[in-house]
Amino acid sequence: MNHSSKAIQRDLNQDDLIVIAGAGGFIGGSLARYFHDLGYTRIRAVDKKPLSNWYQRIPGVQNLCLDLSASDACARAVENAVEVYNLAADMGGMGFIERFRVECMRSSLINTHLLEAAYQAGVNRFFFASSACVYNIGLQQDPDVRALKESDAYPAMAERGYGWEKLFAEMLCQEYWAERHMKTFIARFHNVYGPNGTWDGGREKAPAAICRKVIQAKDSGTNEIMIWGDGTQTRSFTYIEDCVLGIDKIVHCDELVATPINLGSSELISVDNLVGLAEEIGDVKLNRKYDLNAPRGVAGRNSDNTFIKKVFGWEPSTLFKDGLSQTYRWIEGQYYARKAGERVVEDTM
Ligand code: NAD
Repeated sequence: MNHSSKAIQRDLNQDDLIVIAGAGGFIGGSLARYFHDLGYTRIRAVDKKPLSNWYQRIPGVQNLCLDLSASDACARAVENAVEVYNLAADMGGMGFIERFRVECMRSSLINTHLLEAAYQAGVNRFFFASSACVYNIGLQQDPDVRALKESDAYPAMAERGYGWEKLFAEMLCQEYWAERHMKTFIARFHNVYGPNGTWDGGREKAPAAICRKVIQAKDSGTNEIMIWGDGTQTRSFTYIEDCVLGIDKIVHCDELVATPINLGSSELISVDNLVGLAEEIGDVKLNRKYDLNAPRGVAGRNSDNTFIKKVFGWEPSTLFKDGLSQTYRWIEGQYYARKAGERVVEDTM
């Protein structure tokens, strides 16, 4: 795994205030941990969830519970901030984004108010977490995909609801730079996974869901697994450590102002491969059942990393089997802790 951040030139003092929105969630929590571990002393973590439901609470980090869909909460959140990272959104895996389009689209309130509040507060840099769901779905009908490059978002035919909302927010970020000169940065994440994220309750994504199902099948002795779709769908999956390092690189690279960039692994994995790897990690072999009526998203999607490699000479490179193994072990710990009656964090629909 590549943890190197040597080449990153940050115009940020150790005690400048970094604000992370959505820090009670998976990626935001990991980003707060990352900056804390780098020695930044003033980090403000913001989320609407009650503190007891945050995946990570980091010593020395200021935690605020605020609903960022309101403009006054956004103003409070970014007060005195030098950098703002927006990881707050109402989202989940395919099961969530196909069923709850209104919730997904209402994240435009967060994005709109937080951008304006950051602009009013005079922040130096603003990051927006976009998604591979902005890409034209017409290019993703075949499991044997052509990897998606940044220009493939237009002409636009994004994922209904969630994808269009992300595309609109990207454009808003670009206009805050063009018209108002606030430096905005936009990464299109491709299926981020790892420890300290949603693993049950309906919002979880495929890697966490499959790990949990394998653990459950093994524990209960049913030795059977239900897979959404026919198992041929392909995706690339990005390990959380690559994701937070990539965010840091992107935000501190002026060449990328207002320029959406893929932040994703280019290792293509089918759902059947994913199940096979989880079985290997769990040392179990299961009977596979396929639910052809379950949400499955596009047939195939991969990240074209030509641009990120050109800018940084780097791309997310954690092998899926290594990242999945870390994820599996963490979920296994959560699963057995819950079974033993301990309190664990679970996101529900
Ligand atoms: P997550 O659900 O774990 O975290 C999002 C957090 O935002 C949650 O803790 C939630 O409570 C918070 N939030 C929602 N509405 C809020 C509000 N009104 N005010 C304050 N907080 C609010 O999701 P994640 O996986 O950490 O994703 C972070 C960002 O990255 C999101 O914008 C998501 O769309 C984007 N993204 C994630 C992935 C992925 O694979 N995880 C892929 C593409 C894009």
